[in-house]
Amino acid sequence: MTFRPAATDSTHEPTLRCWVESAHRHPDFPIQNLPLGVFVPPGGGVPRGGIAIGDRILDLAVALSGGLLYGLAADAARAASGPTLNPLLALGPAPRRALREQVSSLLQVAGEQSGHARSLGDRLVPDAKECSLLLPAAIGDYTDFYAGIHHAVNVGRLFRPDNPLLPNYKYVPIGYHGRASSIRLSGTPLKRPSGQTKPPDADGPVFGPSRRLDIELEIGIWVGPGNALGNAVPISEAHDHIAGFCLLNDWSARDLQAWEYQPLGPFLAKNFMSTVSPWIITPEALAPFRVAQPARPEGDPRPLPYLWDETDQAAGAFDINLEVLLSSEKMREQGIAPMRISASNMRHLYWTAAQMLTHHASNGCNLQSGDLLGTGTISGPTRDSMGSLLEATEGGKVPLVLPTAEKRTFLENGDEIILRGSAARDGFVPIGFGDCRGSVVP
Ligand code: MN
Repeated sequence: MTFRPAATDSTHEPTLRCWVESAHRHPDFPIQNLPLGVFVPPGGGVPRGGIAIGDRILDLAVALSGGLLYGLAADAARAASGPTLNPLLALGPAPRRALREQVSSLLQVAGEQSGHARSLGDRLVPDAKECSLLLPAAIGDYTDFYAGIHHAVNVGRLFRPDNPLLPNYKYVPIGYHGRASSIRLSGTPLKRPSGQTKPPDADGPVFGPSRRLDIELEIGIWVGPGNALGNAVPISEAHDHIAGFCLLNDWSARDLQAWEYQPLGPFLAKNFMSTVSPWIITPEALAPFRVAQPARPEGDPRPLPYLWDETDQAAGAFDINLEVLLSSEKMREQGIAPMRISASNMRHLYWTAAQMLTHHASNGCNLQSGDLLGTGTISGPTRDSMGSLLEATEGGKVPLVLPTAEKRTFLENGDEIILRGSAARDGFVPIGFGDCRGSVVP
């Protein structure tokens, strides 16, 4: 059995009319997206699963109790009725697809149940501004990979000028176990971390606030069905274990990192907080934006057989535009819009999501529903496509100049970072990820 990518279907039709009018104007959440999240409805109540549609959130519990869902989609909605989506993620692709199909239908002007759905009004689709969003899943484990090839070369060069890419890089999807407890939702302020650093000219280390606070532009991969301890996940089945994607800012303290990273890798430079966007963008929503994994440069080794699948190579990568925006306190005071400091794309990964997941489980390590895998920083090949300030400023040597004439090498207190992701293709309605933002506080 070989992996078959989710095909496009009637839920992707660009001509669909949605009775939630804002869906037609919303850059991220048209009816063709339908991402999954957890929210508290207006006026409070128990957190529950929802689907973003325009500037509203479809309440799955209300859809279920209103008799709008049946069969596998009703199973999916029941699994999404609690404060985390872990039970829904565990169900895998079939119920998730059924839910997408039925929710798409009931939101369509011409949908079979749209009359009944519309009659439920704001109870079914409350205004998102009046809801609060929560993390979509309880994250048991978080692993961060290093699959951005340009990032790996750029950073390797800064840390080891004569030896940027270690020989294992082209064989092993390199990663490390991160910390799940400090993953927070978009909007959570980031307290500047303190730690040990050793200035290059000092005899010994000092302890204090990080002075080289950085971002990492990444995509998060939400694990769907897990695997039992001792059982690997064949690459041909890996896509069925992926429930969706989000934006991930893996904040990093470069000065702490430089002093602590050898011999065991990242530790306190990385685990003080990571920020995710609230919505799980499903593989179904991203079906039109799948692309072939870019061919490896001439002379690079072919992946070992357990990481090789023809279909994954043909359609296992994603054409997702990624942006980093920065807004300083002064810019906000002067009413200046956030400045785009980088534009990259998810295609700049050396390994596919399926390869990362399969490699992770290849030793029998048990992934669990709701685990989060980070891709690693996704930098492009050019100056204006860097996924970290470390790269954009050449290790802090070449500052960025903001519209206020302020200079930035690393983040200052009051800076806000906004990550954005969006996908577009001729013949399809563009979809987006929603914001992943966070401001630095002392
Ligand atoms: Mn990272």
